[in-house]
Amino acid sequence: MQNKKNILSIRNLKKTYHTKRGETKAVDTFSFNLLDGEFVALVGPSGCGKSTILSILCGLEEKSGGTVSFEEDITYGYMLQQDSLFEWKTILENCLLGLEITGSLNDETKQYVIDLLNTYGLGDFIDSYPSNLSGGMRQRVALIRTLATKPDILLLDEPFSALDYQTRLAVSDDVFRILKKEHKSAIMVTHDLSEAISMADRVIVLSQRPCTIKNIYEIQMTGKSNPIENRKCKEFASYYDRIWKDLDLHV
Ligand code: ADP
Ligand code: MG
Repeated sequence: MQNKKNILSIRNLKKTYHTKRGETKAVDTFSFNLLDGEFVALVGPSGCGKSTILSILCGLEEKSGGTVSFEEDITYGYMLQQDSLFEWKTILENCLLGLEITGSLNDETKQYVIDLLNTYGLGDFIDSYPSNLSGGMRQRVALIRTLATKPDILLLDEPFSALDYQTRLAVSDDVFRILKKEHKSAIMVTHDLSEAISMADRVIVLSQRPCTIKNIYEIQMTGKSNPIENRKCKEFASYYDRIWKDLDLHV
């Protein structure tokens, strides 16, 4: 990873929410660089400010301080916990939505989406409706919809937490392969340590709110391959223990 270029630099990011009931400090001096093609996982206690960081990156929220700089004209794709597919639209129509909204729907971009659907096993469901698909397939559709606009960086906010355990393992493996094959960089928020360690190149551990970086782990495992296999690597448990201790959850 060392000789890869930076595509995103975040320096001293701060965020305070102002509401009628007062101020909530959500993020405090958060800094890191994302490398091209890198998969970074953010883990931290519930309510510590993880979603806030992603919302700032994709422009849904204003930052209160710090800088966010890009190498070039970086675009983001945002994928949420709920697949938020429209039930009354077909799979293809759902996947074309981002292109419609950004005014970039044409024969070529439409064909790109159809190719993605075919490549990732959804070719037979192009004219189906979301209710005919399993949870795992729906999440794959949501990912293809996010990829349709060819974003440089994917922001994934607990993308698998609505799925049952078995599906979750299969879908995380699936999403990982798709992102690697399409050469995407990604920042994924998760509270599942195993998911973070098995998928990420680096795991960033956040403190309690307002979040700062507590520790960063470069995940290096012997025989590292795909998420399901990575869980069996001998270094896995030791990463898990160290990150668990960092989280310092008082339960
Ligand atoms: P996480 O994703 O880590 O669970 P969030 O980033 O969603 O945490 O929230 C961090 C803190 O900011 C929480 O205390 C939350 O209540 C608060 N917060 C989040 N969004 C808003 C908002 N739009 N207005 C006010 N407070 C908010
Ligand atoms: Mg959140």
